[in-house]
Amino acid sequence: MKVAVIGGGAAGFFAAINLKENHPQAEVTIFEKSKKLLSKVKISGGGRCNVTNGTDSISELAKAYPRGKKQLKKLFKEFSNQDCMQWFESRGVPLVVQGDNCVFPVSQDSQTIIDCFLSTTKKYKIEIRTSQAIELISFDNEKPVLHIKQTASSETYDKAIIATGGTPKRTGLEWLEKIDFSLTDPIPSLFTFNMPEEHIQQLMGIVVENALVKIPGTKLTAEGPLLITHWGMSGPAILKLSAFGARIFNDCSYQFQVQVNWVNIQNNNLVADELKQISEQHPKKQLSNFRPYLIPDRLWQFLLTKTGLPHTKLWQDIGKSGINKLTNILCHDLYTVNGKTTFKEEFVTCGGISLNNINFKTMQSRLHPNLYFAGEILDVDGITGGYNFQAAWTTAFVAARLGEV
Ligand SMILES: Cc1cc2nc3c(=O)[nH]c(=O)nc-3n(C[C@H](O)[C@H](O)[C@H](O)COP(=O)(O)OP(=O)(O)OC[C@H]3O[C@@H](n4cnc5c(N)ncnc54)[C@H](O)[C@@H]3O)c2cc1C
Repeated sequence: MKVAVIGGGAAGFFAAINLKENHPQAEVTIFEKSKKLLSKVKISGGGRCNVTNGTDSISELAKAYPRGKKQLKKLFKEFSNQDCMQWFESRGVPLVVQGDNCVFPVSQDSQTIIDCFLSTTKKYKIEIRTSQAIELISFDNEKPVLHIKQTASSETYDKAIIATGGTPKRTGLEWLEKIDFSLTDPIPSLFTFNMPEEHIQQLMGIVVENALVKIPGTKLTAEGPLLITHWGMSGPAILKLSAFGARIFNDCSYQFQVQVNWVNIQNNNLVADELKQISEQHPKKQLSNFRPYLIPDRLWQFLLTKTGLPHTKLWQDIGKSGINKLTNILCHDLYTVNGKTTFKEEFVTCGGISLNNINFKTMQSRLHPNLYFAGEILDVDGITGGYNFQAAWTTAFVAARLGEV
């Protein structure tokens, strides 16, 4: 059996290696369009490669995927994050789970993952062809015929696994549209919010450990650390929101409002009661000198200015309207977003091959029985924290069974 793996990235290598373990007699060839193999793995996680997330529940793991959650939840029973950790450790790549559950190689170097893949493909005699882009697939009695751009030649295989990764432009997927696959419009996910008109940028570097962010008029909400940057807002809460709202934000050309609850308390009465208590317990303190909820000092001064309350006012003189103003700014602080910035270049694609094209029990195409899919080319993507690689490993692992094991 001759099997082609199209794409020499994370999903392609993982599929090729597992395929060879499932079907030792198969002749496996990886086609990579560029000169470099595994280039995203190399730069991933700031050069350290956040291979997966260490959460111990499959339900929690699946929640990290704005697209593909339902399908992945089932697939994780076949190959989970725990299986992934075992897979690497049993192949000589010790891993470490950080306090935030991100998992890295102990070496803290993505090259360790690349070396593992390259030495295993060599051991299994998997052929690797770089600078060979597949520009079209045709069929000969349902067998895929790959048309190679650089050599203007074609080769017939028994089966092919397509793992060509995310592409933020539809043109990158036209060759698959030609063989009738339907696409969900590819657009970027995982970005930070630009706020060119907002003075909050002056507070760059401030982190609020547990904020709640919402997009008014939608159901979009996320919580977690929020970082103020010199262009606007970033941090896990914002990145999560960007992933879950990727399509909504794209539709409004990245112009929208974001509401920040700086104390992540949804019940306004609780916040108002806390402020009232402060006014009773610290009556002679100036507003600027006593910060509720230990809000970072510069942020507190900024918020006070935004309410219009004098910084020198005493807590005892704040009155009901003052409490209302402070409660409002702490719980419903509004900012205008105008544009996005890619987070540490670590974008992923929202969209790709539509999920109804795929049988998620096998990762086999519903249109052409000898084609399988794996990785970010699918309309599947996750938030930051090792989830995107986990989706690549899981889909590749299942595709590598070729529907048989
Ligand atoms: C800077 C950065 C950092 C990241 N860090 C992390 C992280 O730490 N943890 C995490 O979970 N995720 C991370 N991600 C996301 C993660 O890298 C991707 O989700 C993952 O690489 C997807 O794997 P893939 O194999 O599907 O695609 P890719 O890794 O993109 O591989 C696809 C390969 O296919 C090749 N190809 C494309 N078209 C063709 C063709 N027609 N013929 C032949 N070859 C083709 C491409 O050149 C590429 O080499 C990061 C992403 C970026 C950009």
